[in-house]
Formats: sequence, C-alpha cells, structure tokens
Amino acid sequence: MDYTDLYIDGAWRSGAANERFDVINPSTEEVIASVASAEISDADAALDAAEVAMKEWAARTPRARSEVLRKAWELMTARLPELARIITLENGKAGADAMGEATYAAEFFRWFSEEAVRADGMIAHAPASGARIIVQHKPAGIAVLITPWNYPAAMGTRKIAPALAAGCAVIIKPASETPLTMLALMPLLEEAGVPKGLVNVLPSRKTGALVDHMLHDPRVRVVSFTGSTSVGRKLLHSAADQVLKPAMELGGNAPLIVFEDADIDAAVEGAMLAKMRNLGEACTAANRIYVHVDVASAFTAKLSAAMAALKVGDGTDPSVDVGPLVNADTRDKVAAFVSDAVAKGAKIEIGGSAPDGKGYFYMPTVLSGVPETADCVRDEIFGPVAAIQTFTEQEDVIVRANDTEYGLVAYVFTEDMKRGLQVCERLEYGMVGLNRGLVSDPAAPFGGVKQSGLGREGGHEGMLEFMETQYISASW
Ligand code: NAP
Repeated sequence: MDYTDLYIDGAWRSGAANERFDVINPSTEEVIASVASAEISDADAALDAAEVAMKEWAARTPRARSEVLRKAWELMTARLPELARIITLENGKAGADAMGEATYAAEFFRWFSEEAVRADGMIAHAPASGARIIVQHKPAGIAVLITPWNYPAAMGTRKIAPALAAGCAVIIKPASETPLTMLALMPLLEEAGVPKGLVNVLPSRKTGALVDHMLHDPRVRVVSFTGSTSVGRKLLHSAADQVLKPAMELGGNAPLIVFEDADIDAAVEGAMLAKMRNLGEACTAANRIYVHVDVASAFTAKLSAAMAALKVGDGTDPSVDVGPLVNADTRDKVAAFVSDAVAKGAKIEIGGSAPDGKGYFYMPTVLSGVPETADCVRDEIFGPVAAIQTFTEQEDVIVRANDTEYGLVAYVFTEDMKRGLQVCERLEYGMVGLNRGLVSDPAAPFGGVKQSGLGREGGHEGMLEFMETQYISASW
C-alpha cells in the first residue's frame, strides 16, 4: 500500500508518537498494511492547517469551488478499479460491490459540484415592519468527520464533497479497520486542486480521546458522524459542550414488507439488493422481512434459490459474488443471531454456518418463521442473513414495522400504488423504497428519524448541513 501515514496540511506524516496499527485483509486474515496512528498533537496540527486553508477556500467563488469538485469526480471516475481494489482488500467486499461503492462515492463530488453554486438565499418584505428580510447561507466552520468501515470510500465522500462545496475545511477520522481507501483518495484530491490543509485524514487507535479533543476545539463547528447509534450518542454528548452542529447517520433495523399483491420476482430481486448489497453490512440492509402468509412459501423458495446461487469467496476473484465479513467479531455476532433465532423456533432454509478455513466468511442464510422474540428482530444483523416472518393484516404489519427505536429505511412491495403510498406515509422512517430494494442516491436526502440519526446527506439538504443560515434585517 502506497499511503499509510497521516495526511495533514497536504503532507504525509508518521505521527507524533510514531505508533502504527495493522490493517487486515478479511479474506485471508493477513496484514496488508501498517498505518500511522494519530495523537492529540497531530489533531492540533490538522486543526491549524484546516483553519488556514478554510479562510482562503471559503473566500473563493462558489464556481471556483465547484470546478475543483467536478475535477475530483473526473479523476475518481478514471480510477475506479484502483480504488475498488483497495476497498476489497481492506473491507472484504466482492469486486462488483466495491466498484459499486467507488462509483457511488465519486458521484458525491459530481452532485456537490452542481450544488456548490446553488446555496440560494432569499429576500422578502417583512409583513409588519416593511423591513427587508435577507437570508443567506455561510460556511459553518471546520468539520470533524468520523466514518465507519462498511463503506470506506462513500461514507467519506458523502461528507467531504458537501463540506467543500459549502466552503468548509475537514478533518476525517476513518474507521480503524479500513483507513486505506480514504488515504488513497488524498493524492487524487490534490491533483483535482484541493488546497493543502483543506482535507486532513487522521487514522488513529486512540479514537475516543482524539475525537473528543477535536470536538472541544473552538475552531470546530460541525461534527458529522456515520456509525453505530451507541457511538453517535457519545458524540452528541461531546458536541453539546460547544453546541456543535451535529449530523448523525446511525444504525438501522429496516423492515421489508411484501404484500400478497406484490410481483414476487420483483420483490425477491429487491430483497436480494436490500439484504445482500455489501453482504448485509449496511445500515440500509433489510433486517426484518415481513411476507404476507399467502405468498410466504413462494417468496421464501425463490429468495432461498437466489441466495444459494451466490458464490462466496475472496472478493479479489472476479467470479465471486460475496466476500467475507469485516472481522471475526462481526462474523461471530451473525452466527450468534442465527443460533438464537433457531433456538427460539426459526427454521434454516439455507446456509446457517461459517465455512472452515481462513477468512471471516459466513454462508448466505435464509431463516423462516423467525419469532418476534429473536434477537435479530431487535438488533442489526449486519450480515448475510435474511430473517423472514409472516403477517396477515396490513395494520398489524405497519405496527410491527414501526416497533423499533430505529427509523432509517423501510421497503414496501405491492402492485397497488395507492396502498403502497398509504403504507409509506404510515411508516416512521426517513426513507422508504417502494418496489425498490435500493434507495441510496447522491441526489436524494439520505437519513433517518428516531434513533437512526439527525440531518441528511446528499440531495439539496446535504450541503446545508455544513452551512449556517444568517438573516439580515435591513432598511434602505
Ligand atoms: P462504530 O463502531 O460506531 O464506528 C464508526 C466510527 O466511529 C469509526 O471511525 C470508529 O473508530 C469511531 N468511533 C468508535 N468509538 C468512538 C468514540 N468513542 N468516539 C469517536 N469515534 C468513535 O460503527 P461501525 O461498527 O464502524 O459501523 C457500523 C455501524 O454504522 C452500524 O450501526 C451501521 O448501521 C452504521 N452505519 C450507518 C450509516 C447511515 O448512513 N445511517 C451508514 C453506514 C453505517 P474506530 O474504528 O477507530 O473504532
């Protein structure tokens, strides 16, 4: 791996304490890189650099910022296979999944190059006083970005691109399992014209202390986090001390509902996407699959056949459909969910085991008759296990789907669009896929309600997360 040091102020540094940590290939369990681990003084250096860079960047015209972002999209698009390979090596996901992520990640630069010139304000007459109400958006300040391992490229670019479009500088703390992709992106951003100090990357094994330190620096104004709800809660507590602007993309527990009038083939295709994209290691993964009793056996048979047809193996092999889970803990957690569900009465239709040998693999699994008391109904499975339950009444399935503290995404399959839209409106989720197993789109506002998060990424809303609204009351 070419880039394994900290990236601060446009330069590669080994870190103040000269400490390093290993990155493991989940397919082979081999060490693929030794990465520098940032200390508090490295964070201070990054903050100093970000402060200087942001002054000049925020003063540039929106068009000038937009053109740098557009160039980043062009360069990234030209190098998708290289980036996809690094994603596969450190995260394990199969080649096609990694290419899908790299493409999606690059699209945020294109989308936000287009949004950079559209931070529209407004002017109006105050109804009572007749004064002018002028509203404008300004860059909020330095943003600290913390990203998870499941999308090492896209969860970063979904934050970097809107922050830069808004005029902010950023410091990124990538997940320790997968820091290499974000580091590999930096030379490309330099080539696109991103000035030194504007984007800094700090891998670290002292995560909690490092992030907490940055969130208490008065120059930081935004904390944007993607990861688990438990860590999100901690960050919200830290962010409260300086009343930072928080953007929180947290956990999910997505229901996928198949009504009796659904096109079953389309529902199976949608369920495969919603469940198996990224091997189920996604906040958007269909966690609870509710199928109407009249179509449950047909749906289960077709889904099991589709899951059984997937080839499991090292993601660098182009014939492989699904790779390993990211680490042993994640695999063991998936295995425990399956054992628990089976002990409580679920039936294994296919899969249900981890193959012998190296790598954190788990076979694509379909469980039917999963009881409401199973742990996987309450918690994110984060793995290749489709947990099927049945229902008879529409009202009952809506209540069950909403019975969770999460509210990121839900999926609904029906051929009756009136019913579909009525059900979508009743679901307490930030996003709903109606006859679709994929909702992520750079042009759409991604995000959840309840304990799945605060704020939105992508769409028109994404850039505003990095801006403050200023209102000027004027008379002339
Ligand atoms: P995680 O354990 O919450 O870690 C995410 C990031 O937070 C990593 O960079 C991690 O660093 C860092 N972190 C851990 N403890 C921290 C602390 N005390 N203070 C500051 N930062 C800390 O989550 P994960 O296991 O990587 O990712 C899986 C979770 O992310 C799932 O719950 C999934 O649903 C969620 N997710 C949500 C979305 C969304 O858009 N809503 C998208 C993807 C994933 P280290 O790696 O160094 O520990």
